[in-house]
Amino acid sequence: MLKKDLVCIVCPNGCQVEALVEETPELKVIEVKGCTCDKGVEWAEQEIINPMRTIASSIVVEQGDFKLVSVKTDTSIPLGKIFDVMDAIKKKRVKAPVTIGDKLIEDPAGVPCNIIATRNIYAAKI
Ligand code: SF4
Repeated sequence: MLKKDLVCIVCPNGCQVEALVEETPELKVIEVKGCTCDKGVEWAEQEIINPMRTIASSIVVEQGDFKLVSVKTDTSIPLGKIFDVMDAIKKKRVKAPVTIGDKLIEDPAGVPCNIIATRNIYAAKI
């Protein structure tokens, strides 16, 4: 039996969480202590079994008034897929204009999420 100490990141309370985990071939959460609400218990189980993250980065823009557009995933993705998704973002090029919320990549590296723009980029004035 493993004991895992975590800090819940779901809300600013930051509860100290202790989880007891069994390593049968797969990880199995036996007990979660220290959460003051059910959302924390759900988060702790997810964090131990299949941790998820959202990521933010930027994509190169051609013919824009700015060379990069900031982007983020529109949902959280498995922690183990971050490098694959970052690689897809790094290889991508878009042409101005770009509008906040534009889907710039769908299912990057086969991961079910979208990479969306988080700022406007206007076409460069020539
Ligand atoms: S356990 Fe509940 S109250 Fe505590 S940090 Fe997590 S979400 Fe917030």
